[in-house]
Amino acid sequence: MTFKNIVGNDQLIERLRETICGKGVTHAYVFEGDYYTDKLAFANSFAKAILCETNKGTGCETCISCIKIEHGNHEDVYYAEVTDKGNTKDEEINKLQIRLSNKPYIGERNIAIIKDADSMTLKAQNRLLKTLEEPQPGTVIILLSNNVQNLTQTILSRCVVFRINPEKLNSEKQKFEFEEEIAQMLLENEPFYKIKLRMNGILKDKEASMKFLDGMERVYRDLLILNTENSRLYKKTDVNKIVSHIEEARRDLQIGVNTAYSLKNMILKIGG
Ligand SMILES: [Zn+2]
Repeated sequence: MTFKNIVGNDQLIERLRETICGKGVTHAYVFEGDYYTDKLAFANSFAKAILCETNKGTGCETCISCIKIEHGNHEDVYYAEVTDKGNTKDEEINKLQIRLSNKPYIGERNIAIIKDADSMTLKAQNRLLKTLEEPQPGTVIILLSNNVQNLTQTILSRCVVFRINPEKLNSEKQKFEFEEEIAQMLLENEPFYKIKLRMNGILKDKEASMKFLDGMERVYRDLLILNTENSRLYKKTDVNKIVSHIEEARRDLQIGVNTAYSLKNMILKIGG
């Protein structure tokens, strides 16, 4: 995948293309996008556009550099998995810092892509800060994040932050059947106990709940774009209000409010 194949995000891609071809690439970025947005594919496309040998700014998929990135084995592109199931792996941060303190192997740039950067502990984020503050020339660090609110202000102040919009909804690729079913139950004013019963499987699982909230948000945002029978049943202001309830539940989960309580609260608010 290159920038050419990405659906949506045209403005963002144009800005990144301009920096690669003109103004110069900054040393640190945050790419934020919801659970379902393939942030890694986006970051890889950005890396291809930077390092491409034939079509700088876009990437080509046929030069050696683009092929290596596609296969995840480009010498100058380093992938850091700094957390595992929410636990920060200090040795991975060490490795990343050592890698970035060395010169690139083949080109002029070291690119590091840090997955799930926002699940790092505060301590780990502070360690990473040193690398962001004193990067070697040519370094590009890309932090992938579900939610930038989990990153410290000092990290954010040293990065250019971009929000990646979900790729066009209603695509074959991603279906939100469960979330649509819950939205339908809410629309039909089903009693809370029935909805709760249906959601039983996720109510105690924080990660599943976060995923559910991202799915719900997509289902509702979809209503604003699509012209289906269902979407005509909602007023735009109602949808915006619902989305704000979903965002509120997400914030509650992030600060550690009980999962079942946050979701119940949201369902009751949406149900009005
Ligand atoms: Zn290429």
